[in-house]
Amino acid sequence: MNPITTALLGLSVADAIGVPVEFQTRSELDKNPVTDIRGYGTYYQPPGYFSDDSSLAFGLAESLATGSFDLVDQSKRLINYKHHGYWTPNDEIFDIGMTTSRAIDHLGNLFRNNKTSELSTLHQSAKESDNGNGALMRIFPLYAYLRDKPVAEWIAPIWQHSALTHGHIRSVCCCFLYLRFCHHIVTAEKKEKALELARRELLDFLMAANLPLEELDTLATLIKADFARVARTQVRGSGYVVQSLEAALWSIFNADNYRDTVLNAVNLGEDTDTTACIAGAPAALLYGVESIPANWLEALARREEIIDLGDRLNATYPTPNVR
Ligand SMILES: [Mg+2]
Repeated sequence: MNPITTALLGLSVADAIGVPVEFQTRSELDKNPVTDIRGYGTYYQPPGYFSDDSSLAFGLAESLATGSFDLVDQSKRLINYKHHGYWTPNDEIFDIGMTTSRAIDHLGNLFRNNKTSELSTLHQSAKESDNGNGALMRIFPLYAYLRDKPVAEWIAPIWQHSALTHGHIRSVCCCFLYLRFCHHIVTAEKKEKALELARRELLDFLMAANLPLEELDTLATLIKADFARVARTQVRGSGYVVQSLEAALWSIFNADNYRDTVLNAVNLGEDTDTTACIAGAPAALLYGVESIPANWLEALARREEIIDLGDRLNATYPTPNVR
């Protein structure tokens, strides 16, 4: 299976494993840890139902599968999610982040007032408080569009897409590190080497961007930590983009298969579906689609359509150099 389809399955299955226990605390989960697929719980959804993370990622995937990077089209699909349940399991939304919801209302206003030319400058008004994980959780499909481009050309599209809801540089740095990590996994690096390469590329960008030191400090753990040695008590699966990516990487570096990576992420508590979703794409790339437990994959809502979407997106951006 191609890496795009593999990762879309990996992220949405992981999301669905986290959904029934979203917002549970770690101590609650420690008493009753998730060990297999469940249903109902927090949102009373059947097993295999994925949340906003996957729906919004699928919306981006559909947009890019049209063959172009088009902020107007990407925005329409975000709006469609909020108002029409686009790419949800059952045409109904049961979860949406606060920043994302507010940002989608703003996008709607831009359309109503014929101001869609402003979509490409949204990052200029980004606030530090807009650093939830809402862009990171849906960013994976952009990898298909970027994978054959030189690394210097990655930041601008990442920033423009992220800024539709989350325009702060911190969210962009997390998305960039994450997508480069995925890229190096696809090009057959071991996970340690993949992260090392991605970190170096992020540092190169940060040096060139001349960011204030305080901003660099917020990324210090992402840039330096040996996640295999970081204690579980040191990570949080919160909705803050930096902690979210730290938690996903911790989950990956403290497991040697897809299942344990996802369960690591979910059992951290809090934003369980999103931590798992972020960890789920690279984990599926690392261990292959066959590593996803069969009963998890079987239960996944809209599985065949997700496979078709991944295949279409993969075919839209062919890569002779990438397996
Ligand atoms: Mg969610």
